[in-house]
Amino acid sequence: MNAIEFQPVERPLSPWGLPASASRGRRHPEAAHPLRGPFERDRDRIVHSGAFRRLIAKTQVFVGQPDDLQRTRLTHTLEVAQIARTIARHLGLNEDLTEAIALAHDVGHPPFGHAGERALAERMQGHGGFEHNRQGVRVLDLLEHPYPEFAGLNLSIEVLECMALRSHEEHPDLQSLRTVPRMWLEGQAVDAADSIAYNAHDAQDALRAGTIAQEQISQLNVWQAAVEHAKIRHADLGNGAVQHASVLRAMLDMQVRNVISSSKERLQTISDPQMGRRAANDLICLDDFHRQQKAELSQFLGEKVYRDDRVQQATRSGAAVIGELFDELTTDPSSMPESFSKRLAHESRQRVVCDFIACMTDRYARNYRLRMAKS
Ligand code: MG
Repeated sequence: MNAIEFQPVERPLSPWGLPASASRGRRHPEAAHPLRGPFERDRDRIVHSGAFRRLIAKTQVFVGQPDDLQRTRLTHTLEVAQIARTIARHLGLNEDLTEAIALAHDVGHPPFGHAGERALAERMQGHGGFEHNRQGVRVLDLLEHPYPEFAGLNLSIEVLECMALRSHEEHPDLQSLRTVPRMWLEGQAVDAADSIAYNAHDAQDALRAGTIAQEQISQLNVWQAAVEHAKIRHADLGNGAVQHASVLRAMLDMQVRNVISSSKERLQTISDPQMGRRAANDLICLDDFHRQQKAELSQFLGEKVYRDDRVQQATRSGAAVIGELFDELTTDPSSMPESFSKRLAHESRQRVVCDFIACMTDRYARNYRLRMAKS
């Protein structure tokens, strides 16, 4: 019997999808894998990373998940990945690259959500600052260390470029990865999926936690449109959580369909992947009508959920933990694990402490703080 010749399976793409064969490779060249193409390997490296696993205990919006059903960064990430993959498949984009970017997109988040990010950014003023997208590149390219020969996951340059272009700041650390105005279309699909996902699931989590009431959210145009869309499938939408799920499912469906159909139109003039990243605007997105509808929901969530007293109080207490940890560890870094302390030889104490804290889960940060207080 002849031995089977393995080779990666490539799916056909649209002219604007980025084929794996067009990848510019990795910082440290590696031999091709017989089963998986480069972007599939990137995806798998991300899933196997410690940073990805720690997303399970990092806050999305609701600190400590009041009843275990609210999203964490991990379940948010998985929802983003599946929405992004649907968009990619219908637009003939590279699904493997899309999935890798989606699974990586939040690995730079510190514990306690955006309050945690603000706390670290404050402490890092004058020491190079802190921003979660930039931190994501650091995590993937430096802090993860599964290979003996080099630090980082050695991902394809295209994944790192999209991570760097997610950042809204012009930082020298990201310069070499930000050579064009926008992300590959696969990264744009992740961006579209990210905001569609968090709008819907933050609304569902907030309804569940009682932070908002159905009477309030049902005033919004997007909710009313979603109710109509849901009625096509369900004669009776049910009550309470079942109704919320039905309406929000319909909202996701409407928005994902719109991203696909309106992006298809925008892509008509695009004949190769490079054109997509040099276009004047993102090409993978909602049309104006749906964007406005979604903006109304974003604004509503901003006022009623993200600025809600209980949500704020919980995130503030998390931010305080981060501030205390930072101050104590920069005064005496001796308790840090060796994987971090060894870097004190060539990086500032603030940066190393910041990396250590940013990697923590909510739970680890609180426990570490308690242990430090006792010692
Ligand atoms: Mg996200």
